[in-house]
Amino acid sequence: MKSESQHRKDIVEVCKRIHGRGWISSTDGNVSVRLREDRILITPTGIHKGFMNERDLIVADLSGKVIAGRAKPSTEIVLHATCYRERPEVHAVVHAHPTMSVAFSLAGITLAKCMLPEVVFTLGSIPTADYAPPATEEVAESIRKYIKEYDAIILERHGSLTVGPDVFSAYNTLERMEHVAEITYHARQLGAITPLSSAQIERLRQVGDRQGWPRRKIAEEACNNCNACGKLDGCGSPPAAAGDGVTQERVAAAVSSTVVENPSNDMAAVIAEEVAGAMARARG
Ligand SMILES: [Zn+2]
Repeated sequence: MKSESQHRKDIVEVCKRIHGRGWISSTDGNVSVRLREDRILITPTGIHKGFMNERDLIVADLSGKVIAGRAKPSTEIVLHATCYRERPEVHAVVHAHPTMSVAFSLAGITLAKCMLPEVVFTLGSIPTADYAPPATEEVAESIRKYIKEYDAIILERHGSLTVGPDVFSAYNTLERMEHVAEITYHARQLGAITPLSSAQIERLRQVGDRQGWPRRKIAEEACNNCNACGKLDGCGSPPAAAGDGVTQERVAAAVSSTVVENPSNDMAAVIAEEVAGAMARARG
């Protein structure tokens, strides 16, 4: 088991890396480690995390009471406490403001679609928690429905939340999540992107089973967008027939989700409708 002084060194190292990657600026972000059941080591508020040292860290309990330290603990301590309360096996929490992941949430584009094989293996879907004002208990409330099943969550218009058995795992998960956002961003610049099919996802899960990797949660709410659950019309509909062929319903679902997701496609939908109408009139 690591000593408290080693945990302090690890948190400082992780904060420097997060700042070095540009995923926090100035005094943003917060990182914590669970020392024992009701005791955490957490970054202070109002201090630049890229220049922080080990003595700046605060020991607090899960109610936010300071046990040791000179400064005030992070204003997001309730968010951290919620993760530790809901997930006894979690021993580290990292909250940052990673550029691409936050940009996607501002654009209203979900990263819950399964685009890349390694994400199916390691993270499952990446849900986006509803917007809540930073530094309020509402942030903790916003992640409550996701934190039991996901290790990586985007906080709408705000940042990221990643958890793990130790601080480097929680950092790795942040790195992976932002990498997915970055690849997705570049792919969208190059053209339309297609999520993995339900058959491809199932195949990946079987590969993971053989490796002994735990199955990660694929969000039900992503149904309409990525067909991950094999349902044609989204949650609540009967499962799709065997096979993974393109059907009219699936195309319709994909078109409607694309239109909702990207307002610039509204014009394309209007034009398509006009063309279809003109063709029908010409035939008639
Ligand atoms: Zn924040």
